[in-house]
Amino acid sequence: IKHSVAIIGAGIAGLALARRLSGFAEVTIFEKSRGTGGRMATRRGEHGSFDHGAQYFTIRDPAFHDALEPMLDNGTVQAWSEPLHRMGADGQVEKLEDRSPRFVAVPSMTALAKSWASALNFQTETQIRKISGEPRRWLVETEDERFGPFDWVISSAPAPQTAALMPFKEPEQAMLREVRMNGCFTMMIRLPDDVLLPFNACQVEHDRLSWIGANNSKPERDAAPCIIVHANNEWAQTHLDSALDQVRENMLAALTTILPNLPLASAMNVALHRWRYASVEQPLGEAFLLDEDRQLAACGDWCMGNRVEAAFISGHRLGDALTSIIKENAA
Ligand code: FAD
Repeated sequence: IKHSVAIIGAGIAGLALARRLSGFAEVTIFEKSRGTGGRMATRRGEHGSFDHGAQYFTIRDPAFHDALEPMLDNGTVQAWSEPLHRMGADGQVEKLEDRSPRFVAVPSMTALAKSWASALNFQTETQIRKISGEPRRWLVETEDERFGPFDWVISSAPAPQTAALMPFKEPEQAMLREVRMNGCFTMMIRLPDDVLLPFNACQVEHDRLSWIGANNSKPERDAAPCIIVHANNEWAQTHLDSALDQVRENMLAALTTILPNLPLASAMNVALHRWRYASVEQPLGEAFLLDEDRQLAACGDWCMGNRVEAAFISGHRLGDALTSIIKENAA
């Protein structure tokens, strides 16, 4: 009989893990939101489409490259070849030397997760609130439903949510407490047609802002100018519970000072998204967390750091470890 595995979270880490385990275990993924992809996200509305989480990703790891190869072939993953700029604290903009190519999913960042998710077993709109039962017979509970028993439960939620949810003991709890994540705000601005930015991708050194990008400059997006502005993570962390209107005004004021010619007064819409756990300030320093005796584990970008690729590697390597354990148990 195959091991049954519950995975909490359908971001890139949870999906990478589920893909690696398929064939070895009976996997069910529980995801609190309506869709998959987690922080690799797209918001669509009447004012256009905005990748409001991860802007792009690198493909340096061979396993990540292998997993993406079919999508690189069929165009679901494409290079975003816009030059990357950097605006210094003095407002000067320079074009950065080309580093690793930057990739995006097409036609929106959610396309990658959707493509992987189609072969996996999901419960969406299912927020897990409690793990009960006992080792090897874990129950996974929402407010009014209970699933299981499962041999293994694995969380791919951000570290603070994983710490609150999972019945880890020491030393895992202490290790989770050491991980620090910061919030972020993403402002999504729809400008009138024909407005051009002085750049389409720019890291910003500013006490309130960290990134300005034109979503419409990515491959196969809508042509209308859809501008993404990310807050500086430290500033966001100290304003996480401020009123959203106030945060938006603060970010708009900062944008006006650094790009005074941008016709913000004629913006057709300015929306704001709050990410409570956006980036990793202090990672775990190991690829995943595993309590083999009690059959609990956790993965996510917070293990190795801050990027889509790190999230994939964490889920994939945990999958490698679990398949070895499952094979040993079967032998
Ligand atoms: P997540 O994507 O957070 O997935 C966790 C999932 O768990 C979520 O879907 C969540 O809904 C679900 N979940 C949580 N709790 C529960 C529960 N109790 N029950 C059920 N489901 C639950 N990375 C880059 O490489 N390049 C970038 O340019 C970049 N820019 C970024 C900009 C922003 C604003 C943000 C927020 C992130 C950015 N990142 C970037 C980081 C990148 O998005 C993340 O590293 C990566 O997507 C994390 O994947 P994950 O699977 O570890 O976590």
